[in-house]
Amino acid sequence: METMPEFWDCNCKHHYIHPKSVTRCKRCGARAKDQPDSRITEVMRALLQGEPIVAEQPAPPASADPST
Ligand SMILES: [Zn+2]
Repeated sequence: METMPEFWDCNCKHHYIHPKSVTRCKRCGARAKDQPDSRITEVMRALLQGEPIVAEQPAPPASADPST
């Protein structure tokens, strides 16, 4: 079975495909290094269903506290 090294599966029942740029699932807490690579067929299915499997942008750092 072929897998895609660019993606990994977390433990969620749905939307469990994540790009390797996401190192941890926010929902189930699974970590990329502990999880298997995603199957090509699963990635294709997710893409066809419009799942948001592209890299999520991290929130911008909060601006420094205004002193004084
Ligand atoms: Zn998850």
